[in-house]
Order: sequence, then structure tokens, then C-alpha cells
Amino acid sequence: MSKFAVNGRSAIEQGLQACPICTCISEFKVYPDHCPVCRNTISVRKKNSLQLTWALIITAAILLIPANLFPITILLKNGTENPDTIFSGISSLIKTGMPGIAIIVFFASFVVPILKILILTLISLSIHFKWNLSTTKQLYAHKAIDFIGKWSVLDLFVISIMSAVFNKGVLLSVYPGTGASAFTLVIITTLFATRTFDTRLIWDTTNNG
Ligand SMILES: [Zn+2]
Repeated sequence: MSKFAVNGRSAIEQGLQACPICTCISEFKVYPDHCPVCRNTISVRKKNSLQLTWALIITAAILLIPANLFPITILLKNGTENPDTIFSGISSLIKTGMPGIAIIVFFASFVVPILKILILTLISLSIHFKWNLSTTKQLYAHKAIDFIGKWSVLDLFVISIMSAVFNKGVLLSVYPGTGASAFTLVIITTLFATRTFDTRLIWDTTNNG
């Protein structure tokens, strides 16, 4: 039995559901589709949560390819365009003596999106195949990627800082490339994937803390 259950039984086992708007607890047999207090449409679990999460994870994983292959920034120097992908950008930052920013770009652009996709894939697979993984660890992992999701935009922030730093020169400027658009879509899809995923599904499929 899940450690999150009350009196040895989870809410769904007790026939209860919570309204996400007003937090009212009601019996889903009595109110199957709406909240008795605020009339908000509710359901015991987010509808098609796992399917939506899968669709968004796969989209994000596909978008990672153009995000890494196409230039994320384009440096305009003396009228010549010098495109940089995420990795060539990291390498350029190290060469130009900015290892601190290179580390931020590496984590924000590469480690964080891949980590989010991998963790969501693992949790979704665990639910899909009913793997008996630790409920607490899966919930903490989801909480962690939900938290770092807020910092994913750091890379776009770095591009804007780079633009400000490089644009000090008269004939030097930096602007975002095609890869930046793909990267933005990776951030958006992973953010939505994290939010469409119903963490309560973890409770339904695992039986340990
Ligand atoms: Zn309500």
C-alpha cells in the first residue's frame, strides 16, 4: 500500500477526488465530472495524461536533434556570419576565456533538457509496464525536473547576455539561429510534458515507499 494513503487506502480507493481549483474533496460517484463547489470540470486523474506526456516527450526528443545540429547563435563579424551550434558555442566560449558561461550553457542547453526527457521517459515507462520502482524516488525525480524546468530558459538568457557582451564591438553582433527556435520548442514541450503528467499515476502503479 502506498505510504501516501490515508487510513491504509488512497483517495481513489476511498472514492474521493480533489478539485484542482478550489481543493474541495468530493465523491466521484456522486460528482463524476464537476466540482460541487466551483462547478469546475474535474476527473479522478488527468485525462489521457500518459498519452499526452508520451507525445510531448517524443516531440521534445525529436526537436533536440535540430536544436543541437542547427546554429543556436550567429556571430556577425566584419560582415561575415559565423554560426555556432550548442557544442561549437561551448568550445568557442572556452577558447575565448569564458569557462563559467560555457558550463552554464552546457548544463542549460544539453544536460537539463536530456535529463528531463530521460526522467520523464523512465517514470512513464515505469507506469506503462508497472515496474515496481520506489514511489518516493519517482515523485522526487518529477519534482526535481519540474523545478529545473524553470531554469531551462537560462540558455536563452545566456544568448541575450552574449549578445550584450559581443555587441560592444562596432562591427560585431550576435543573434539567435534556427537551433534557438528548436531549443525554445524543446523547453516548451518538456515544460508541458512535466505538467501534463499526473504524478498520482505513480501511486496507482507502485506499492512501496
Ligand atoms: Zn472546485
